[in-house]
Amino acid sequence: MRTSLHTVALLATALALAGCHTLPAPADAPQSTAPAQAVPADDNLNAVLWLQRSMEYRALSETVFRAAAERLDAALADPAWDALVPTERAAAGDASKLPPAIILDIDETVLDNSAYQARLVVDGQEFADPAWEAWVEERKAVPVPGAAAFTRAAADKGITVFYISNRLATQTDATLDNLRSQGLPVKDGGVFLGLGMEVPGCEQKGSGKTCRRQLVGRGHRVLMQFGDQLGDFVQPSANTPAKHDALHAEYQTWFGERWWVLPNPTYGAWEPAQFNGDWSLPRDERRQRKRDALRIDR
Ligand SMILES: [Mg+2]
Repeated sequence: MRTSLHTVALLATALALAGCHTLPAPADAPQSTAPAQAVPADDNLNAVLWLQRSMEYRALSETVFRAAAERLDAALADPAWDALVPTERAAAGDASKLPPAIILDIDETVLDNSAYQARLVVDGQEFADPAWEAWVEERKAVPVPGAAAFTRAAADKGITVFYISNRLATQTDATLDNLRSQGLPVKDGGVFLGLGMEVPGCEQKGSGKTCRRQLVGRGHRVLMQFGDQLGDFVQPSANTPAKHDALHAEYQTWFGERWWVLPNPTYGAWEPAQFNGDWSLPRDERRQRKRDALRIDR
């Protein structure tokens, strides 16, 4: 059955090719520029394409990590320097005599998952946990430009590199394999703090990273934090544009000093903040809320 179908397919292909040679299009035939079929629209096409194909993304990410590297020695030398917000540092205890560490988010901070995002665009799909978890198990994410060189340089200075991520703690092995294979330092299994891990003496709230930051802070002075979303640095009391703006104003001087943001236009808490976090809304309704949030007067 398989052989006969294969033979028919080969014959059809041969006939089609022969047709191409025997029936060339007339030289004066009108040339249409319209695609044969409508190309599906996707809100994420430009953003994912920019991550994958623009040199500007690479240059920007490299700039962030290089600028951080230039600040690292000053941070290391100053025992008063710490990158946890005061409430988290107070809960964790005095840091001045603790060994140094840096904390990095993983996705779109040190690992580039744009191939997964590209699959969603090509397939017309939206983010879903099963497909995401399958992607994590593939261990195919590549480093964000500049991340591997920076983290290795930090590790060489005796700075422990921690990864606080909302990848599931149950995906520790896949995540550590991916980090190691891409040249990112992994001192031991304890440097990955995933979603679902328990932190004694701290009440975990949703997917917030506060408790995990405090856990690192109990044993280390945190020189710098790296992320692609505000929640990688500090927990907003609500996921609204107003709360985001207020925290930006409060910690503005920390960005580019203790906190380093990597560009990620493809997803992030900034997006559901535009439609009150209601992912149950139909896709068109969410798109309409985002259009409504556009500023057309400035
Ligand atoms: Mg991230």
